[in-house]
Amino acid sequence: MAYHKKENFDEEITNGLMKSYRDALSLIGEDPDREGLKKTPERLAKAMQYMTQGYHLDARAILNSAKFHEPVSEMILVKDIELFSMCEHHILPFFGKAHIAYIPNGWITGLSKLARVVDVYARRLQVQERLTVEIMNAIKETLNPLGVAVVIEAQHLCMMMRGVQKQNSVTTTSAFDGEFHKNSTRSEFLKLISANLNR
Ligand SMILES: [Zn+2]
Repeated sequence: MAYHKKENFDEEITNGLMKSYRDALSLIGEDPDREGLKKTPERLAKAMQYMTQGYHLDARAILNSAKFHEPVSEMILVKDIELFSMCEHHILPFFGKAHIAYIPNGWITGLSKLARVVDVYARRLQVQERLTVEIMNAIKETLNPLGVAVVIEAQHLCMMMRGVQKQNSVTTTSAFDGEFHKNSTRSEFLKLISANLNR
């Protein structure tokens, strides 16, 4: 999904971050005044604000903005939602896919809104476990569905580039509520997210 490019950066925050990043460059042994790095503190200051814009977004408001009364009671599933976040322990990216399902109880939301909710929580400093639960809770509290399920599969650069250096490990987290506590419903969901229906 496309993001609105965030051009209006808070000047005070940008300047504060630039100063810190300039100091950080010196501390790791770099020359922040060499040509290639001259604009790096500013770029990084803006990138960091972009990548953490979720702090200023409200998932419940987004879901409520496209909430429709609809007597559907079958599972609604959006799978393979692209996800980019940053771990709060190392401020390094983790990325992968989110799969979201819910069983409506009279209310549905726009499918794209589910993807936006992923971004609201992913564009913050996160741990994958909390991200999974926050997405579930926002849907649960806004749509009051009969059940919600969220599964996230992600690769963490803090594991790949440093530490244990496991290049291919994928971390899977899940959160289930309501009907998804039933084995049959959960199995149907898990079968659907692992099926290649259109490939
Ligand atoms: Zn980490």
